[in-house]
Amino acid sequence: MGPVIGLTAQYEQLVNKKMLEINNTYVDAILEGGGIPIVLPIVMDADTIDNYLDLVDGILLTGGGDISPLSFGEEPIKEIGSICIARDKMELELFRRAYERDIPVLGICRGLQIINIALEGTVYQDIFVQLPYSIAHVYSENVSQGFHTINILKDSLLYEIFGKDKLVVNSQHHQSIKDIGENLRVTSTTVDGIVESVESTNDKFVFGVQFHPEAMIYNDKEFIKLFNYFVNKCKK
Ligand code: MN
Repeated sequence: MGPVIGLTAQYEQLVNKKMLEINNTYVDAILEGGGIPIVLPIVMDADTIDNYLDLVDGILLTGGGDISPLSFGEEPIKEIGSICIARDKMELELFRRAYERDIPVLGICRGLQIINIALEGTVYQDIFVQLPYSIAHVYSENVSQGFHTINILKDSLLYEIFGKDKLVVNSQHHQSIKDIGENLRVTSTTVDGIVESVESTNDKFVFGVQFHPEAMIYNDKEFIKLFNYFVNKCKK
């Protein structure tokens, strides 16, 4: 059996339903990468979160809605999107405990921002208002195709995986990293300086991307390499 990867999910609280939702692209990507995906429901109890971590070999923090700016010490600006405090709290706790236990973590889009905030970093609540000269970072019509170019540092996991210093990736985010968290470094950016990936500077495996490699795999098999790499790091 391959490494078991715990995937976080979106929590939609409707009038008479509380729905846990996950885009199946994450499930496909982990399977293609050689892992066994399991979805982790949102819970508040720290012991249950520890129990989740007993079951998995790695964590994938998935994409989703905005993170409450209260979690990094700011009040919301009016461009903030939908937020879910319960998901924020659960993922921040899950990350901190996984980090403590040296369990590998991959963060995608919102997941990269969760990693950064958990390590005392901050994010732009809305890049188009707060960074008016940024290029376009939201293209939702077809997320399985590339949209903008990222420039990759040669001494980085991303370069190790793809062997390229430029990569065309999709983009579907209006938030991005502002101040980088502790023990993290930026490893790729777009031409406007927006952070598109980070990795740990210590011996823990923490890797985050702002784009959506899981959505690219259907058009471009090369992106499976990223999941292969992550799943291999999760082997006991
Ligand atoms: Mn982007």
